[in-house]
Amino acid sequence: MSTIPLEKIKSISEEIDAPEGILNFLQKRNGLYSKDYTSRYSVTEIVGCQRKSLYKQLGISKEELLGDGTIESMWGTVRGDFLHQMTYAYKWREMDMEYYVPLKDGRIATLAGRLDMYDWKTKTIIDLKTTKFVRWQIKQGFLPREEHILQLQCYQTMFSEYMPVENLNIVYADMSDIVTYKVEKRDVSKWINTRIQEIENAKTEKILDGEVSGLCKFCKYQTKCFEDGNGLTDKPLSMPIPKQEN
Ligand code: SF4
Repeated sequence: MSTIPLEKIKSISEEIDAPEGILNFLQKRNGLYSKDYTSRYSVTEIVGCQRKSLYKQLGISKEELLGDGTIESMWGTVRGDFLHQMTYAYKWREMDMEYYVPLKDGRIATLAGRLDMYDWKTKTIIDLKTTKFVRWQIKQGFLPREEHILQLQCYQTMFSEYMPVENLNIVYADMSDIVTYKVEKRDVSKWINTRIQEIENAKTEKILDGEVSGLCKFCKYQTKCFEDGNGLTDKPLSMPIPKQEN
């Protein structure tokens, strides 16, 4: 039973175009959607090694990790997927955002980020990191990692224009333990702009030095980085994929 007269309904509502996101979704499902990935970065990329981001931007072919296909690495992927189910603890999950960075040449770069979870009651951004031996890594000083802290501060910078952000939490989880850290809030907009501009400059100028860390062993550009110099010096654990002969 309607309590609003039809004339009134017509006066307070009007038909408009379908939301862009729905159109993009339908086009993608029909193979018609092609996004321009030039100067598009993910938060994970910019908090990681700059040279690695540059290689990706330049379209350099990824190599094959020598550990790929082992039971340990395959189980690692599946284990991460299992633990990721924890994000269902919140209804506000997997929320994405684009942040635009004006470049010196007048173009606009895009930074894309996705929140694992958001607790609207406490206005907390929560990022889940699944790993192994959480307590042991904390004891060794490996966790929390600087790039994880920066990642949350990037999310705060990107999302706080659209929703309140009071707290930033990182949750480290392995198969037997969960440890949470509260991270200091910080606007990192200047850092984001500089970081992306440096990668953009390096596309036409001198290649960036590698930012060598424990994460290099998972990088799929190790041979390239080793050969370019000023980067990886250990024996590469990834190899170029041979081109298929026709
Ligand atoms: S091997 Fe390490 S330093 Fe080199 S591009 Fe990859 S992550 Fe960067």
